[in-house]
Amino acid sequence: MGDGGVGKTSMVLRYCENTFKENYIMTIGSNFSTKQVDLEKYPNFLIKLQLWDLAGQKHFSFVRPPFYRGSSATVYTFDLTRRSSFQNILNWKNEVEKVIGDGKPSILVGNKIDLAEQGQREVGIGEGEALKEELNAITYLETSAKNDTRIEPVFKDLTLAILEKTQKL
Ligand code: GDP
Ligand code: MG
Repeated sequence: MGDGGVGKTSMVLRYCENTFKENYIMTIGSNFSTKQVDLEKYPNFLIKLQLWDLAGQKHFSFVRPPFYRGSSATVYTFDLTRRSSFQNILNWKNEVEKVIGDGKPSILVGNKIDLAEQGQREVGIGEGEALKEELNAITYLETSAKNDTRIEPVFKDLTLAILEKTQKL
């Protein structure tokens, strides 16, 4: 979840296909991807993650709620160089939790750290950490889909949380 342009599609593309595209192609409706996850801690589990990447723009808000139903976890993403996308995270939380409730694991991601490190940062690390606490998310990670920074930990940490919450281990 997160505003249009924060890098949701790019994160999924990086994680599932290890590619990156500079040109912005707005997601229409939804994209669906799957990826097998190998967790070192639980080598006996065969895990197939299903990733739903939804259009973040306001005018797509009416198509999103049905996609939330049945989801196991949420990745909240903002753009470290765009403060408004950070301020909107609580609106995303409201939209999602109306459908799935507040008991599912989530993770908070500040994306585009490559640009933040070039002087374009608009949200501090401490602010990200504080929002993570407010969301009750499992971790806060600063990522770059472009440079492949901490993209895998986003999905692995969340998968681990889902597994430990839902399975007898
Ligand atoms: P979405 O609307 O949230 O799905 O955002 P996209 O994944 O389509 O990305 C929006 C724009 O930001 C695209 O032009 C991407 O190339 C760019 N982008 C995404 N992630 C990063 C990143 O980590 N660093 C930089 N510099 N650009 C990024
Ligand atoms: Mg997209």
